[in-house]
Amino acid sequence: MFHFATSATYATLPDRFFTKIGPTPVRAPSLIAVNDDLARDLGLNPDDLTSPEGVAILAGNALPQGATPLAAVYAGHQFGGWNPRLGDGRAVLLGELTPEGGPQVDIQLKGAGRTPYSRGGDGRAWVGPVIREYLLSEAMHALGVPTTRALAAVLTGEDVYRETRLPGAVLTRVARSHIRIGTFQYFASQRDIDALRTLYEFTRARHYLDAETPLQMLEQVITAQAELVAHWMSLGFIHGVMNTDNMTLSGETIDYGPCAFMDAYHPAKVFSSIDRHGRYAYNQQADIAVWNLAQLASAILPLIDTNEAQAVEVASAALNDFAPQFQAAWTRRFGRKIGLKNATPEDAQLIQDLLNRMGSLGADFTNTFRALADGTARDAFSDPAAYDQWHDAWRARLAAEGTDAATQTAIMRAANPAIIPRNHRVEEAITAAVAGDYAPFHRLHSALKSPYEPAPDMGDLTMAPTADQEVRQTFCGT
Ligand code: AMP
Ligand code: MG
Repeated sequence: MFHFATSATYATLPDRFFTKIGPTPVRAPSLIAVNDDLARDLGLNPDDLTSPEGVAILAGNALPQGATPLAAVYAGHQFGGWNPRLGDGRAVLLGELTPEGGPQVDIQLKGAGRTPYSRGGDGRAWVGPVIREYLLSEAMHALGVPTTRALAAVLTGEDVYRETRLPGAVLTRVARSHIRIGTFQYFASQRDIDALRTLYEFTRARHYLDAETPLQMLEQVITAQAELVAHWMSLGFIHGVMNTDNMTLSGETIDYGPCAFMDAYHPAKVFSSIDRHGRYAYNQQADIAVWNLAQLASAILPLIDTNEAQAVEVASAALNDFAPQFQAAWTRRFGRKIGLKNATPEDAQLIQDLLNRMGSLGADFTNTFRALADGTARDAFSDPAAYDQWHDAWRARLAAEGTDAATQTAIMRAANPAIIPRNHRVEEAITAAVAGDYAPFHRLHSALKSPYEPAPDMGDLTMAPTADQEVRQTFCGT
């Protein structure tokens, strides 16, 4: 089963970093899914996890040997408003694994019961968000995006009450770490410089071994986040709750709540029902990332330089590097989406021109890009003339780069997925699961494993929703 590391673990940090608490047992655990591929990558035997003993652990009814369960404390800005104390309110970290040849990872149960950080919540999750996170995080991984992973999902045999009575579930989340910007903010707001330094050393050892100073770590986090958000953008992904407690130091995507992939392209698209002012809209994500990183910078100022003015100056310079790094990553990724091997800054205009045309006609983001390689993109536009005008400029640019047609096609096919977890398909899987049918979930999960080379019998999953299939809103719904 799990063989947890005994050193360099979060549990060895000082007491004020967490509360030692185990998961709360549940009535009747049963398995929804174990991620066999991930289990093997982690050096685990999938059969161990699906055994009754394994399911008991995944549900929180038994602790694996060597577990040091805890709920971590953190703070954060939620929709811009400061919250001095959040923390794992429905999650318990069991311990860290060090798979052979791989980096150390956290094993966390999400939906594992109340903790001192639960505030008014029940510490539980219903099957909807568990399935959603499972599908979305595994899809992101298959798409090549740094992300937390889903190792397993189990039913608890207990009901949870949201607007109605729903089946309870627990997700086993795997992450390079759960260190958030909000974790640094928590100690900064307490003026606990010792803890900040300890957290910096821990983060450095886990993720940024070559950073020699806190400033260098900040620079590397900025680079990781610029790359990450550009990657999201290139796939039409909207995180939906980019609060500072939902942004990792590792550069992994975390906390799949109201997130969604766009169907029709609209630059200011918002899905989250609670995001009334569009703070976390598709086209706001880079700006929000910088805002969040500025909170990180401000939290670690005392570590950067004891002279505050000097610390502010170098931290600001590091933050100013976000925009050009994001822009370069954006151009590189969208350049590949239109078949360019080495897009240059001037190509941003050509790309933007296509996006504008898509936006004004509501063309499907994923399928329009995918169709470029097939020569059928014109069909994606309700007014084909809008595409034709762009097409000629695009072909001229490709000709100027001088790659052959096969290379261009290969570049585009590798940058433009055919299968994404479309909202209506995710909702369909959740609705079926609530009724006890997990077949749509398993089918979608299996299709999402090869997003760039869909199996022939998965054609229906590539299709954009019809008007009455379309899902316009998503919910935190924890
Ligand atoms: P989120 O926006 O989903 O990242 O959650 C924000 C905060 O609310 C975190 O501190 C969570 O632990 C807490 N939280 C969310 N759902 C629950 C729940 N069902 N019970 C207790 N705490 C929760
Ligand atoms: Mg969160």
